[in-house]
Amino acid sequence: MSAFNVAKFGGTSVADFAAMSRCSAIIENNPQTKLVVSSACSGVTNLLVELANGIAEPEQRAQIITQIAEIHHTIIDQLAEPTQVEKDVHAILDVVKSCAEAASFQSSKKLTDHLVACGELMSTHILAQLMRERGVNAVRFDIRDVLRTDDNYGKAEPQLNEISALAQEKLTPLCQQHVVITQGFIGSDEQGITTTLGRGGSDYSAALIAEAVQASGLEIWTDVPGIYSTDPRIAPHAKPIPEISFSEASEMANFGAKILHPSTLLPALRDGIPVFVGSSKEPEKGGTWIRQEVESAPQFRALALRSNQTMVTLHSANMFQTYGFLAKVFEILAKHKISVDLITTSEISVSLTLDKTDTSGGSPELPQAVKDELQDLCTVKVEHDLSLVALIGNQMENRGYAKQVFGVLDNFNLRMICYGASDHNLCFLVDSSSAKEVIQHLHAELFE
Ligand code: ADP
Ligand code: ASP
Ligand code: MG
Repeated sequence: MSAFNVAKFGGTSVADFAAMSRCSAIIENNPQTKLVVSSACSGVTNLLVELANGIAEPEQRAQIITQIAEIHHTIIDQLAEPTQVEKDVHAILDVVKSCAEAASFQSSKKLTDHLVACGELMSTHILAQLMRERGVNAVRFDIRDVLRTDDNYGKAEPQLNEISALAQEKLTPLCQQHVVITQGFIGSDEQGITTTLGRGGSDYSAALIAEAVQASGLEIWTDVPGIYSTDPRIAPHAKPIPEISFSEASEMANFGAKILHPSTLLPALRDGIPVFVGSSKEPEKGGTWIRQEVESAPQFRALALRSNQTMVTLHSANMFQTYGFLAKVFEILAKHKISVDLITTSEISVSLTLDKTDTSGGSPELPQAVKDELQDLCTVKVEHDLSLVALIGNQMENRGYAKQVFGVLDNFNLRMICYGASDHNLCFLVDSSSAKEVIQHLHAELFE
């Protein structure tokens, strides 16, 4: 394994000149950091998604494009030699303009990916130049030449063998001479068309790249000094976790802890690459190490929250004491590539939740065609505005704690409970309006 480190910087870490300079200092401090994966500047992807969803009013479009241009210009203006970067960023802004106009007539997932990729394409031009001006031998690399995916636009699936071969051929040699600055979140399909890995996908990109170049470490630099017992924005008394296992951290990411994209730890786990999470603003505060083997395995580790959940309830009196109903339901869902997340059943009804992390955002819809097919079997009820709360821990199947947990939740309306299927989590659906309060109450009871 080569002794080099991959460092990923999220949107707030590259939000402005000062933030980018702090990233550069972190990279300069560790000579093993040879590969840097950057997000778009803070807020830019959201603006690009707005454009990609189609804005009919030309003035409103122009206003958003001006906002995007200003975010970048403010940083470029502070560079010593801005000329080339300015040209490069302008060329990308022209793409943004023409794609935004096209999207105002007809939006599509393919066009969305092409458009939203522009955020990372711009930020990396600026970060690389800023680092060169600080004396780092930095070079920008277009990751679309390596990060091969399928053509499932909006949430593309990485093609691991191709990524590995392309990285060995194009990226590894470059890293021997330079600090390589590249984009998170984006890739390209077999035909070279731009794809994205879904919102928050830069973490996943960094892990995939770390795996492909057989890095010795992966650092995720963000705006909080590590992984906490829950989102510190929701529960101010949340505590930092110095060390956590891959499986616990994966559960947290899967259940919506925004700090890590859900798939981030898969590549790191496959290759046993230790992952560090820290704050680029306060690197001196340390952070969290995610490792295979850790010293403690507490019963309760963390609480995670995933918003934008959709619950589908299928009801059929014919289900009573018959067989094959669930098989038919899943056949329909599989045919339409609908991924089911949680499920509970009773004699005559089934409730399931749908999840969505693709680039277009919002809560998932059950497509009309799926609804129509399901309605041939049963009645179909779809509910939005729900959030999933997950309690994550260890050996949760064999230690009595239900009373303690549900005691806290007495006053809340629980819509679905999944208890006992995993020894690492207990989760339930609540109305989105009460989700934060649920987390605060549970955190106070179990962690404070
Ligand atoms: P980046 O842009 O660096 O990828 P994100 O906004 O995607 O940053 O993720 C960092 C945010 O994740 C934090 O600001 C915090 O609000 C949120 N978060 C959610 N759960 C946790 C947790 N358990 N520990 C720390 N942060 C969390
Ligand atoms: N810029 C992308 C997003 O905002 C990817 C990322 O930051 O991880 O979703
Ligand atoms: Mg993120």
